[in-house]
Amino acid sequence: MKLPQVVLLPGKEKSLLRKHSWIFSGAIKKVTGEPGFGATVEVVSAAGTILATGAYSEKSQIRVRAWSFDPDVSINENFFLEKIKQAISTREIISDPGESNSRRLIYGENDGLPGVIADKFGDIIVIQLSTAGAYHWRKTIIDEIVKQTNCHCLYEKSDSDVNQLEGLEEVVQIQYGSLDSSSVIIQENGLNYLFEIEGSQKTGFYLDQRNNRKLIREYSKNKRVLDCFCFSGGFTMNALTGGAEHVVAVDSSESALRLTSGNLKLNHLDEAKVELVNDNAFEYLRKLRDRGEQFDLIILDPPKFAPTTSQVERAARAYKDINLLAFKLLSPNGVLFTFSCSGGVGLPLFQKIVADAALDAGKSVQIIKYMHQAEDHPISSAFPEGEYLKGLVCKVAGR
Ligand code: SAH
Repeated sequence: MKLPQVVLLPGKEKSLLRKHSWIFSGAIKKVTGEPGFGATVEVVSAAGTILATGAYSEKSQIRVRAWSFDPDVSINENFFLEKIKQAISTREIISDPGESNSRRLIYGENDGLPGVIADKFGDIIVIQLSTAGAYHWRKTIIDEIVKQTNCHCLYEKSDSDVNQLEGLEEVVQIQYGSLDSSSVIIQENGLNYLFEIEGSQKTGFYLDQRNNRKLIREYSKNKRVLDCFCFSGGFTMNALTGGAEHVVAVDSSESALRLTSGNLKLNHLDEAKVELVNDNAFEYLRKLRDRGEQFDLIILDPPKFAPTTSQVERAARAYKDINLLAFKLLSPNGVLFTFSCSGGVGLPLFQKIVADAALDAGKSVQIIKYMHQAEDHPISSAFPEGEYLKGLVCKVAGR
């Protein structure tokens, strides 16, 4: 069967030749045939060479997302079977199953599956589909994941802001099996976490911070810690495990603090050492500054301020604000774990923002470590956008 074709303007094939999977509307000269929403098309250079097959969406600025750069590969059930198999086997190499019962199994473009994210939490899989192509192949993708993982339940949570932009209706439902209870226990580096699937944030747990949560233990012994944007208490609990003297854990969401409190109990950690604060971190940091409080270790792990490059300026101001306040609150020799998960803010810019914050706070600061998303969120060399989580361990000078 002949596929509809998307013909590029002259010179617009460069990124495809580098195996980057996005074709923007501005690169297209014409479309032949009438491809449906998410249907497979061929992408052809102005000179007539077939460069890729991909999923078409007339509602997205990214008009085509390539499935394959090999014109001989057909996009069918077998294609998804192979891609999902590859993605899962990559995780077998890179993550230590003994440490955790949860990991990201499929990471979109980075695993050659644009718009498909799958996270495993114990024997439950949560998927997030966010492109027309992924919606088009939903049933195949779900069937294959279920088959290959033997999961007990597959829950779809396709409700991100991106879906609205892509013109995709929200889908939040169990697609396979059943949930025996509303929560599951996630194990990670010797700690347990309650995981609430329904009503949860993102896919419900921030797997990408696994290594950095563990790292905090090394900096925590006898320290007074401030964990801003604590969510389910991952950094707080690891700090306690590392011997922290006291932790103030802040989040603007009451349900996040309930989760943190539940997790402290679940792990038999000393709740008396933790103060849970339901407040806006931007305001609470100011209150702490005005009270003259000091901490030895501060964690700043805010939500995404700049999902795309258009919001970078506002995001930069927000990062600068909290980092400046954190530096002011650090005691001599204090340590800051500061993160950005904004795709639109790259490491050089983030480092510059943190440097400016240190300068304005009047602190002499050294970066002692760079942090990244965990290995189960690998970055395709053809898709630099896959890198989003960056963090710095900063030490302020002693007096
Ligand atoms: N550090 C966590 C993940 C943080 S996710 C972990 O390791 O699991 C970001 C958190 O920031 C969410 O829990 C969200 O509720 C919270 N949040 C968002 N805006 C906030 C604000 N202005 N002040 C305080 N918390 C905020």
